[in-house]
Amino acid sequence: ATPTALLVGTGRGAKLGILIGGPDVLGRARRIDAVVLDKTGTLTRGDLSLAAVHAVPGVTEREVLRLAGAAESPSEHPIARAVVSAAPTPPATPTLFANVPGEGVRASVDGEIVTVVRPDVVDLGPLADAVAAAEASGQTVVVVTRDGTPIGALALADTLKPTSAEAVARFRELGLTPVLLTGDNERAARAVADEVGIERVVAGVRPEGKVRVVSDLQASGLKVAMVGDGVNDAAALAAADLGVALGTGTDAAKEAAGITLMRGDLLLAVDAIRLSRATLRTIT
Ligand code: ADP
Ligand code: MG
Repeated sequence: ATPTALLVGTGRGAKLGILIGGPDVLGRARRIDAVVLDKTGTLTRGDLSLAAVHAVPGVTEREVLRLAGAAESPSEHPIARAVVSAAPTPPATPTLFANVPGEGVRASVDGEIVTVVRPDVVDLGPLADAVAAAEASGQTVVVVTRDGTPIGALALADTLKPTSAEAVARFRELGLTPVLLTGDNERAARAVADEVGIERVVAGVRPEGKVRVVSDLQASGLKVAMVGDGVNDAAALAAADLGVALGTGTDAAKEAAGITLMRGDLLLAVDAIRLSRATLRTIT
């Protein structure tokens, strides 16, 4: 490959809003067969809104929201931002805080241990029906526990980005197989996949699991691009043959990726693949 052609390609990318991390990146982008797309914040806007609050008997909805808002206040996750903005203000400041990527948060609020976590790590008890119903309607659900006991569940609704379905169709036209990969629940994942036209869905996956999905696809002989925005996507972005981070995403994702898109628009990822093919066609 001539260095001049690669430089020209990189320059054209920058004008389009595609930041290409190094001279080898376009060469890798040209050979991609499958494109793995994160859901929250990548295919969807990731600005979730609170759709419903469920509380167990003896606990008020307000108390569930207050504790959840306090526990989530240090987190930058889209779920945390939605919970904090729906909670009574200002949130109490937690004295201890831990973020578990792909799972949730744990904090000490008013001397009690509060967690806000994915439903499948909790024995849901009286919340089981409400959680199942919310997930069935395509919502993301998190469960609030206090001193180890579930006290409520929050159902959150997200919306698709306007160009996601078109981008998926364009990936197919380029011969790439799209795969949706998410830590969120299967039903919410399917709802989004159906709307954008993706058949292959892997849901409920932890950050380590996202790496495994990428390496399994590679082991089946495919060259894999991963597109994501979150801390939970960083390892998979690094493991992929081509990592594409959204400029709207976290620093961890951008550092792990070969390409950063200046806008959170997946059509730019399509342009990146096209650009790599056009650039390298002229020199090979
Ligand atoms: P995605 O793969 O869709 O970007 P994540 O891996 O970030 O999602 O999160 C997977 C799941 O873990 C979420 O659907 C949620 O149930 C839970 N989770 C992650 N972060 C948080 C948080 N800050 N608060 C509550 N739950 C969280
Ligand atoms: Mg995400």
